[in-house]
Amino acid sequence: MALAYIGLGSNLEDPLAQVTRAFAELADLPTTALLARSSIYTSRAIGPAQPDYTNAVALLDTQLAPIALLDALQAIEQAHQRVRVQHWGPRTLDLDLLLYGDQTIAVERLTVP
Ligand code: ADP
Ligand code: MG
Repeated sequence: MALAYIGLGSNLEDPLAQVTRAFAELADLPTTALLARSSIYTSRAIGPAQPDYTNAVALLDTQLAPIALLDALQAIEQAHQRVRVQHWGPRTLDLDLLLYGDQTIAVERLTVP
């Protein structure tokens, strides 16, 4: 098992609902428990002009390996109809793997922390 911190962000299509649903979807991942969730807060966007972000962090205890966890996070993003139009542009849901145990990961698809 590994402790993993996931950053959640949304600034389109009812962001509070997107983030709330994403917490439930993280809790439902196989071999994974949602140990804690932060409060939900609002932040100004970085990058192109766009709506404010709704953000939160989840703490998972998971048996998924880092790339399997990334696959699962990207599947949840896709289920939220995320469309990548513009780098750093607005999105319905962004899930970033912030920390995975004490591992340092630097491969093409995944940089942690
Ligand atoms: P950002 O989160 O910087 O706005 P995206 O969500 O569009 O960017 O992600 C772009 C790419 O970042 C993804 O294709 C993914 O493979 C890669 N990536 C690298 N490290 C991570 C990480 N720690 N968590 C999530 N995605 C990551
Ligand atoms: Mg991301």
